[in-house]
Amino acid sequence: MTPPSTSPATASERFRHRHLLGIEGLKADEITYLLDRAESYVAQNRQAGTRLSLLRGRTLMNLFFESSTRTRMSFELAGKRLGADVINMSVEGSSIKKGETLMDTAMTLNAMRPDVLVVRHSDSGAVALLAQKVSCSVINGGDGAHEHPTQALLDALTIRRRKGRIEGLVVTICGDISHSRVARSNIQLLNIMGAQVRVVAPPTLLPPMVERLGVEVYNDMRRGLAGCDIVMMLRLQSERMNGSYVPSLSEYFHFYGLDRAKLAVASPDALVMHPGPMNRGVEIDTDLADDIDRSAIAEQVEVGVAIRMACLEALMAHLPSIAPQESRP
Ligand code: ASP
Repeated sequence: MTPPSTSPATASERFRHRHLLGIEGLKADEITYLLDRAESYVAQNRQAGTRLSLLRGRTLMNLFFESSTRTRMSFELAGKRLGADVINMSVEGSSIKKGETLMDTAMTLNAMRPDVLVVRHSDSGAVALLAQKVSCSVINGGDGAHEHPTQALLDALTIRRRKGRIEGLVVTICGDISHSRVARSNIQLLNIMGAQVRVVAPPTLLPPMVERLGVEVYNDMRRGLAGCDIVMMLRLQSERMNGSYVPSLSEYFHFYGLDRAKLAVASPDALVMHPGPMNRGVEIDTDLADDIDRSAIAEQVEVGVAIRMACLEALMAHLPSIAPQESRP
């Protein structure tokens, strides 16, 4: 199959950034461009045995300081499907364990001349800082409780595919809003694209002055879900908590776990989403999570690869082009 093509000149005009550090700073037309490009990669990815050559001769390094299944694997797959060399650095076996700082590690990797670094780190802002020090493009694979831009983009593509639009939809994000970078990136993207965003959480899991993010705030799940089109469930991010934020997991499920009874107040065709990893029986009822008529969780993972391909393509357009002989095997 012919690759769904866009010229580098078009890509650099339509997406004007060298790095992808967050949704903040993106314009609606840039988000739409990424979603459109990703849409064509979804179709491409369903063809068996296709490997494109757009990133042939390019090197993508995954540098994950926090655990990941979906994001790291899908960047690896995205890079490989576009023809790049992909290297995963394992923090466990690296000099970080010998006390090397994040910046020294970044400078070391930069000296090996990668084209793109995908970085996940537990500190908010760490990825942006690193991007100032290196000469390649940097993609934020999640920084602390701050941003996870590719998650918000893949969520947006899933919504657009299922509902045909984003503008005007009512999206309710439920759970640990305080510690969630997924919530922050999604709130920004959904506001940029004209959706109406609600958040639902116990007061202990809401950041101070959360309404300033452009959301309606609810502590009662049924009120927050009433009539909504999309329900996004979030995991309790216990790795970022010090102390106890909920009385018990069973009480949390009783008040804030999504089950069929609570979902019944949402729009009859409301879509259930979750960025994963799920804690079944804590924030979501296991039977509902597996209901393919209501849940888009598997589709989120599928389109995640396509979104990452679109992001790599867009950033590549800003890198110096490589001489043809350099790209030969
Ligand atoms: N996978 C998402 C993240 O890295 C959500 C989560 O971990 O709960 O933020």
